[in-house]
Amino acid sequence: MNEHMDKLLIIDDEKGVREYLAAACRRLNFVATTAVGREAVVRKLTTFDPSVILLDLQMPGEDGIQILKVLKDHKSQARVVLMSGLDKRTLATATQLGKIFGLNMDGSLEKPILIGELRRKLCNAKAEHWGVDADQLQEAIARGEIMPSYQPKATRAADGKWSIDEVEVLARWHRQDAEVILPSAFIEIAEEAGLLPALTRSIVRQTLIQLAEWDNQGLNLTASVNLSPSLLTDAGFPEQLSALTEEFGVDNSRLTLELTESALTQNAGLAIEILSRMRIKGHNLAIDDFGTGYSSLEQLYRMPFNELKIDRFLVRDIGTRTEASTIVETIILLGHKLGITVCAEGVETRESLDFLVNAGCDKVQGYYVGRPSSARMVEKRIGEFQQDGFTDNSADLDDNEVRPHAHVAKQPLPAHYN
Ligand code: C2E
Ligand code: CA
Ligand code: CA
Repeated sequence: MNEHMDKLLIIDDEKGVREYLAAACRRLNFVATTAVGREAVVRKLTTFDPSVILLDLQMPGEDGIQILKVLKDHKSQARVVLMSGLDKRTLATATQLGKIFGLNMDGSLEKPILIGELRRKLCNAKAEHWGVDADQLQEAIARGEIMPSYQPKATRAADGKWSIDEVEVLARWHRQDAEVILPSAFIEIAEEAGLLPALTRSIVRQTLIQLAEWDNQGLNLTASVNLSPSLLTDAGFPEQLSALTEEFGVDNSRLTLELTESALTQNAGLAIEILSRMRIKGHNLAIDDFGTGYSSLEQLYRMPFNELKIDRFLVRDIGTRTEASTIVETIILLGHKLGITVCAEGVETRESLDFLVNAGCDKVQGYYVGRPSSARMVEKRIGEFQQDGFTDNSADLDDNEVRPHAHVAKQPLPAHYN
């Protein structure tokens, strides 16, 4: 198992809530499992050993307080987050009781649970688990320890042939202890501490240097960078970006910007203005995680997007749930009717790839095409792809991808990062 994935146990009597929470947690790289009733909870505590527990207080069988006792008897060290539609005082009393039991109580979430609050709570739990705080992060950005990882995207040409001519840029924190930390453990902290502009500038700068280097090797690649919503509140952002692309002699059309729905919730007017100006300056704009609660149809006609990325959690279910394949097929049609390029994310198997190719998808990205990896690995992967086309390489790990946490060998950064 990937040890970057912290383990999370959801205890709630409602199936719908359990599924909703599990999906939200998996998106943040948690391995999530669920339980209802004392016996199931006891089983999960011994076999699964969660690091975080989301516990509903009101359940028809054993209620949350009884489960707290079970946790106490098992000397659980997990962080416990209570959930309830009850008033704040009841939640506070239950929290107090958990503390008396010697449990690691981590506050509460009021039901109905807002996705943003859940996200904040879990990211903070993750950051603490990884020993990440804002001061460290600030230093890490200044020292250049937050580096891009590049994940290849394959595109279908007019003649039907596929090639890798794009990468998505994913931030990785290469800590001095040789540990590589994934964005779910630090992006939220960066956002809260106002560090995202600096982090994004650093990632964009390194990406542009890499694009220029690839140009020198005759590899004409484009890159997409993830933008957080808070960057769309600075009217000067498009100019700052253009100054960077100019500095490195890279055409704006070779830098795509990926955004999710939350980009629009803060100051929609300003966000639309900034996005339109970036589009006019020649950048491509991609709507990320499309097809889930994170992105909506409304944005497609309000915003100047020219690429749509189908959420990886939909793509994952293509082979197993007919609803998922129907939705994916329909999104591709919708995108094409709107004149928008469609990319499927999270393609992990030959079966889902075949389905997407048949459905007319324009681009595919996922472990089946290539893992997020160092520039050198991307070059190698492109070479292989030119020779053999799609082959299953989903098990290949790259040198800048996840390292097993506890057993990590102390080793310096790969030479090309120095
Ligand atoms: P995202 O933009 O949706 O990025 C895709 C995520 O899916 C990445 O996770 C990638 O490693 C993972 N992925 C790619 N292919 C597959 C696959 O076949 N199967 C599975 N299971 N997963 C796959 P990662 O790198 O952990 O990034 C998580 C999120 O963090 C990103 O989601 C993005 O929203 C955010 N992020 C990453 N880098 C940056 C950044 O520089 N700035 C900002 N603001 N956000 C970033
Ligand atoms: Ca993305
Ligand atoms: Ca995505």
